Amino acid sequence: MFNAILLNKNDDGTTNAQMTQLDQSHLPADGDVTVRIEYSTINYKDGLAITGKMPVVRTWPMVPGIDGAGEVIASSHPDWKAGDPFILNGWGVGETHMGCLAQQAKLKGDWLIKRPAGISARTAMAIGTAGYTAMLSALALEEQGVDKNSGEILVTGASGGVGSIAIAILSGWGYRVVASTGKLDEADYLRSLGATEVIDRAALSAPGKPLQKERWIGVVDSVGSHTLANAVAQTCYGGTVTACGLAQGMDFSASVAPFILRGVRLIGIDSVMAPIARRIAAWQRLATDLDLEKLATITQEISLAQALVKAPEILAGKVRGRLVVNVNA
Ligand code: NAP
Repeated sequence: MFNAILLNKNDDGTTNAQMTQLDQSHLPADGDVTVRIEYSTINYKDGLAITGKMPVVRTWPMVPGIDGAGEVIASSHPDWKAGDPFILNGWGVGETHMGCLAQQAKLKGDWLIKRPAGISARTAMAIGTAGYTAMLSALALEEQGVDKNSGEILVTGASGGVGSIAIAILSGWGYRVVASTGKLDEADYLRSLGATEVIDRAALSAPGKPLQKERWIGVVDSVGSHTLANAVAQTCYGGTVTACGLAQGMDFSASVAPFILRGVRLIGIDSVMAPIARRIAAWQRLATDLDLEKLATITQEISLAQALVKAPEILAGKVRGRLVVNVNA
């Protein structure tokens, strides 16, 4: 038997989330690698799944947890054997396939990546999908040729998981990063991660004009809605905006003006179905480029039971940085 969080759908459509004990017969038959989870995490999407606030979970009952790190127990997949350290991010795990907020999981070997040297299971989950998505966003700016000497990068949702790690990565690469936040009392924290300036997110969150004063050479947006539309409208000629999130909303009421008059590029970032080679590249860069001392300052460790309490808090924007779940605590 092992401990797990289990989600069930109530008759009225709401989600019931509770701690329980499962055995291996509960694990999905279509997995080919059984793993011992050491650490998992609470991302925004896990908050949505546990609270049922959005229909993230498609199969019931479900163990949530889109991220996991630990060790292989048994495998019929040719690339994996008992004892191998792994990282799992996304692929619908915790949505359509039982996830990692549990002490064991049964996953597909094709989904796993080897944990890079120097990255512990706990560090991998301090990074988690949020940090890996921050790296995918940063890599997109780099690949689009955003020149660190030509201006400023805007990071929205700055105190959240994606935002905090994006600031640490981009400032580490030498970019000047402006952090947009609703938590102005966290300005010192954001500066300690590498932000050169902290702005009030209220300046971006209401509907704005289609073309505004040019300020950003690049943007990492995890907020969507009017914030993304305003960020695009404020991006300099030829600049690049990456969009990965919807913390403000899924809507995007914008004009084509920034694209056709300023050549602004809008790059969508998806972590869930990203090809394995892209994941390995992102994790290698995280292993070499992310300042682990900064990561430690943004990380809070919680137990499996506490994950139930923190899920609504992350949706309410009350969580700073990253939540790591010690599934054995
Ligand atoms: P998080 O830790 O909760 O961070 C989200 C941040 O957004 C909050 O800390 C808050 O930062 C800001 N925010 C919250 N509500 C807001 C509102 N109503 N208006 C404006 N800003 C608001 O979540 P996360 O794990 O970093 O994820 C961020 C977003 O990216 C989520 O929407 C998530 O679903 C998405 N995501 C997508 C992918 C992908 O593959 N595309 C991967 C990972 C995450 P401040 O208080 O500092 O403003």
